[in-house]
Amino acid sequence: MARSVLKFGGTSVADLERILHVADIVAARARAGEKIAVIVSAMSGETNKLVSLSRGAAGEDLQDGDFSDEYDVVVASGEQVTSGLLALSLRRRGVRARSWLGWQMKMMTREGHGSARIDRFDYDSGLAEAIDGGEVAVIAGFQGISENGRVATLGRGGSDTTAVAVAAALKADCCDIYTDVDGVYTTDPRIVPNAKRLEKVSYEEMLEMASLGAKVLQTRSVELAMNHKVPVRVLSSFAAPGDDNPGTWVCSEEEIVEKQVVNGVTYSRDEAKITLLGMEDKPGMSARLFALMAREGVNVDMIVQANARGEGRANMVFTCTSADAMKARGVLEKHRDEGLYEDIDVTSDVAKVSVIGVGMKSHAGVAETMFDALFKKNINIDVIATSEIKISVLIDADYTELAVRALHTAFDLDVT
Ligand code: ASP
Ligand code: MG
Repeated sequence: MARSVLKFGGTSVADLERILHVADIVAARARAGEKIAVIVSAMSGETNKLVSLSRGAAGEDLQDGDFSDEYDVVVASGEQVTSGLLALSLRRRGVRARSWLGWQMKMMTREGHGSARIDRFDYDSGLAEAIDGGEVAVIAGFQGISENGRVATLGRGGSDTTAVAVAAALKADCCDIYTDVDGVYTTDPRIVPNAKRLEKVSYEEMLEMASLGAKVLQTRSVELAMNHKVPVRVLSSFAAPGDDNPGTWVCSEEEIVEKQVVNGVTYSRDEAKITLLGMEDKPGMSARLFALMAREGVNVDMIVQANARGEGRANMVFTCTSADAMKARGVLEKHRDEGLYEDIDVTSDVAKVSVIGVGMKSHAGVAETMFDALFKKNINIDVIATSEIKISVLIDADYTELAVRALHTAFDLDVT
């Protein structure tokens, strides 16, 4: 029996008209014999509204422990509304359907509130039987219940993770993530109009793309899909049922026969660079520095250390988000007198541009092609970082678009 999991994000259920359109898509698939669980997000903008309402009610003083459990109660309500509305719209089309909230399907979470993780969900809720019996289950995404029985949410974008978790547990044949784009692209089409929709992309590549700012899927959902080998497809919810709508498959590397050396070019402008000049060059200094950063919750990305000209001195450069850089500067200023460094410079006029591809593992010359393409546009490279399937450079933020375009062309990704 083919079980399918379908997920519709906020823009796909933005108003009643869109919800009725989603009902058309689901109804067509249900009539074709698929056994369906649909996961829905809150109507677009709704979660943001609920977040600011909670903040307003809590005021400045409430600590996390007093805040986030009730925050979850508030923000989880957006998905409850959509699940009921979609179930009603399906019934209007003569399709048997009911809504399922996190607590009803026993979607158990751990690790607290605000960004809880899914632990398991219990089968004895009757969800699987309902689906197999031909009733569409309309599941409120993003929500579950904590160990002590309170409402918990999975972090922003968490409905993707709900969808993948449900698909894994139901052993569904597909997990179709319907969204406002028709697939995953080689780069941001707003920058490169002739960017290509990828037919397939590996979990690993998708993880890099998601964490680097291609916001199609919540990173955690991709990790979960990879661990459970859930075949995920990203496709458009704006197409009519029956339209050609192939989307992009996110699958394991082995299922991709023709591996591109580079499959995507991503960028992130929310970067800052911190330079520490004249650190003492002796064991333990990096450990001390990054312990300070960790304690402040600064998420460090690229790190480069090099010997300085002065005897026994080194310079350290690292990057993080602009918001984290403010925190970092604050603590570092406090520790200036302890020999940790002589001078500090913080700039956020930088951007990170990366090329990603599993084919890189077995191909030489990727770095050369990348650096040469940037050189031909006269773009200076500030910091370089690499992993098995990614090369990232930090450049002047003014050149972000130019760099993305040049790399997209250099790696033959333009649609011709
Ligand atoms: N509604 C939640 C959010 O906006 C969860 C989701 O849509 O995935 O983050
Ligand atoms: Mg989303």
